[in-house]
Amino acid sequence: MSNAKSLEELEQKQDFIRRHIGPSPAQVSDMLSALEVSSVQELIDQTVPASIRLEQPLTVGESRTEVETLSYLKSVASKNKVFKSYIGQGYHPTNVPHVILRNVLENPGWYTAYTPYQPEIAQGRLESLLNFQTMTLDLTGLDLASASLLDESTAAAEAMGLAKRVSKAKKANAFFIADDVHTQTIDVVTTRAEQFGFEIIVGKAEDAVNHDIFGALFQYPTTSGEVVDITDLIAGVQSKKAIACVAADIMSLLLLKAPGKLGADVVLGSAQRFGVPMGYGGPHAAFFATRDAYKRSLPGRIIGVSKDRLGNDALRMAMQTREQHIRRDKANSNICTAQVLLANMAAFYAVYHGPQGLKTIAQRIHRFADILATGLKAKGIALKHSTWFDTLTVVSDSKDDVTARAIAKGVNFATNHEGEYSISVSETTTRADITELFDIILGEGHGLSVDAIAADVEANGSESIPASLVRDDEVLTHPNFNSYHSETDMLRYIKRLESKDLSLNHSMISLGSCTMKLNATAEMIPITWPEFANLHPFCPLDQAEGYQIMIGELHDWLVNITGYDAVSLQPNSGAQGEYAGLIAIRKYHESRGDAHRNVCLIPSSAHGTNPASAQMASMKIVVVNCDKNGNVDMVDLKAKAEEVSENLSCIMITYPSTHGVYEETIREICDIIHEHGGQVYMDGANMNAQVGVTSPGFIGSDVSHLNLHKTFCIPHGGGGPGVGPIGVKSHLAPFMPNHSVINVPGTNIGNGAVSAAPYGSAAILPISWAYITMMGSEGLKQATEMAIVNANYLTHELSKHFPILYRGRNNRVAHECIVDLRPLKEQSGITEMDVAKRLQDYGFHSPTMSFPVAGTLMIEPTESESKGEIDRFIEAMVSIKGEIEKVISGEWSIENNPLVFAPHTQGDVLGNEWDRAYDRFYAAFPVPAVAKNKFWPTVTRIDDVYGDRNLVCSCPAVETYRD
Ligand SMILES: *Cc1c(COP(=O)(O)O)cnc(C)c1O
Repeated sequence: MSNAKSLEELEQKQDFIRRHIGPSPAQVSDMLSALEVSSVQELIDQTVPASIRLEQPLTVGESRTEVETLSYLKSVASKNKVFKSYIGQGYHPTNVPHVILRNVLENPGWYTAYTPYQPEIAQGRLESLLNFQTMTLDLTGLDLASASLLDESTAAAEAMGLAKRVSKAKKANAFFIADDVHTQTIDVVTTRAEQFGFEIIVGKAEDAVNHDIFGALFQYPTTSGEVVDITDLIAGVQSKKAIACVAADIMSLLLLKAPGKLGADVVLGSAQRFGVPMGYGGPHAAFFATRDAYKRSLPGRIIGVSKDRLGNDALRMAMQTREQHIRRDKANSNICTAQVLLANMAAFYAVYHGPQGLKTIAQRIHRFADILATGLKAKGIALKHSTWFDTLTVVSDSKDDVTARAIAKGVNFATNHEGEYSISVSETTTRADITELFDIILGEGHGLSVDAIAADVEANGSESIPASLVRDDEVLTHPNFNSYHSETDMLRYIKRLESKDLSLNHSMISLGSCTMKLNATAEMIPITWPEFANLHPFCPLDQAEGYQIMIGELHDWLVNITGYDAVSLQPNSGAQGEYAGLIAIRKYHESRGDAHRNVCLIPSSAHGTNPASAQMASMKIVVVNCDKNGNVDMVDLKAKAEEVSENLSCIMITYPSTHGVYEETIREICDIIHEHGGQVYMDGANMNAQVGVTSPGFIGSDVSHLNLHKTFCIPHGGGGPGVGPIGVKSHLAPFMPNHSVINVPGTNIGNGAVSAAPYGSAAILPISWAYITMMGSEGLKQATEMAIVNANYLTHELSKHFPILYRGRNNRVAHECIVDLRPLKEQSGITEMDVAKRLQDYGFHSPTMSFPVAGTLMIEPTESESKGEIDRFIEAMVSIKGEIEKVISGEWSIENNPLVFAPHTQGDVLGNEWDRAYDRFYAAFPVPAVAKNKFWPTVTRIDDVYGDRNLVCSCPAVETYRD
């Protein structure tokens, strides 16, 4: 081999790996010297117990260059056939405004942000989410909205959960679903009900009132398109003290009376058609609104208005005590990651078009439906309903012929209901499309003129929306929806909000347990290719061949990486994966006549989603203690397993443990559980310390979820989207989620769905696919090793200044470490919160605060951060320690120091009054490195309590901006 050739090969092999991995070889060797080891291998040998080390390397292939990867993926994507979709059923083609496409969806300033737990440096996306909530409230006619749920069907399942919590029909155990609700929603809600032990009754909407129920769900308009006045149905349900829930089409609400005004208690739906591509099923944001009286029962995150230290309006997440990270198994839901990026896109769509623009779009869609109906009726085609918004259903003997003609023309109708087909028109429909639809349905030579029918419809008006349901109130009157309709104004609004938020394109976000690593551009590019973006999840499988190939490859690689036998990609968050995994365990026990096994052991250090998910699977939770080193207390584990042996369902255990070390006893734990007939659920959200080095399957567990939005590079999106696939051993494989519209091969036909779409958030799977392709077996292992090197280097340096809580063998940590701030707090009165806020002044997002141990910071640098960035972070932490020491020594009082006043805004520092014990320059530029890259928080510290006492969850009236 010539020298030139091998150089080329080396370069090729390293093309992406060296871009993904932050530290240069020289930096790696510096870090290794600091750690007093001579090689990466030596560090790994010290850190990872030999008993769990993989003997075989991964077999996901050689790393490929960015160029090669994208060109291959393009060839795969081009096997998808992008037909015109009239399928509807909750998914519609939409025109993504280009200014939003490029400046939000394709912009790392938006997609790499973290969940807004540090609100002072997240006011931009918080404002956008408040827009989303305000939009939801206006369109649904209700009092209180959340900042996005995972999809329409899971939102409906959450509505059922809320109904059970708040209904006064305490004895009722049944939930009614009208039979004209979307099929996938009936499926997902039924799965959930089965887990909760509720009965589901599916029947004609008018029958709801005849049952003993705690709640009912209607679709508005129905899945076959009918627009029904549901006022009486709602009243009927409420007369039984049950809760009336309505799944609504967001676009139709511009023209139809708000369900809240018709009396609904809960209104939910998908915001997809507000400018978010269909993406073969997701990700999209679901909206959810209810009455003020039920606010404590609302699932998911809510953004609320509060005040900052200076009395300015400031936004932050409200009423967090309802949520899993605080209430654990008593939480309203297990939702953690939601759909923030997509909620933001939908909100911006509403901001950009404004109320008038949206109404025009909705009217245009409706007029096309009218034109189509008028033409079909003129030709004697019978329509199932006499009312509609955008969807017509034809009852037809010639369904197969029509469908075949449609397919031949590259057009899809909804055909999954017996003896009928449906056509949903959308924002993208044109007059030429309507002509084409006539050609398909009537055959050519029908002689209809769309222009003539349009004129006719215009002249005669239309009664396809019942007069009682025509919307007559104003919506979206807030200035945010009426100010940015030119592209220049919109561009600047998006930028203005973006600038308020600290994202990965500014500095490292070292969130322990969240793995905020590089989201490479080459990984992101494919998600907006039309071949991936514009497929309907229920299109015929032969049109989705490209998706099937990509999903198949990803599936096989994840099987290899996890050491399991099968993977389901349906769950659209980690918590949903937990839920799906627990269902599989439950069904497995049932299949063996062990339905009584319902106890789930959970170590006290577990992530909040674990107990919340176990509760959703109706398991009885028994908490296992941890010892003083944070490890599972083996004596307690054995005792508890013994005690519940007969009824043991499973254990949920995180590995490496929640506090970031490889527990040596993991294999023993698996054995103990198995001996008692239980299953091992290993929470694999943080695979970053496992990939290529060990694997859950190899260690001996039975099922895990992985968070593709952590280890596998899907960006965090400011709090979602995510993908939480589960891997299982073969005995659990038959019990993984299926789907009632599209059969998922390899699982039992009768298994219910956990997400609305068969492959969940399919549109973002190319990100993880590309990551694995470009890293290859070798690169993936290197990434894990470098994550361990970076974490140990950081730990080593910080340990000179702070106590490190918990370490594993040889005093090493895995991929993250916990810095204990409690001793300093005791001496100084400075809290972990003060430290987190002061880090903002230094240009950093705080690490994970007070999880899994109160009073600590959990830091995870990931492999993507260079030593330079890690050193800057260490410098900030050490400087902050110096500040705390000045408080301890009395140089600064506890009331007057830069920590308690942190973060400092420009207004604060430049204000006319300054009575601080430290100078202005020091407040904002405490170390020289900050001056080169200053990030200004836009509000001072936020008062959480004020906001929860004075709950405001929609955009504040303009007057409040004036003072
Ligand atoms: C992030 C995380 C989860 C939850 O994942 P989501 O996608 O946010 O639902 C569960 N367990 C652990 C250990 C995690 O770090």
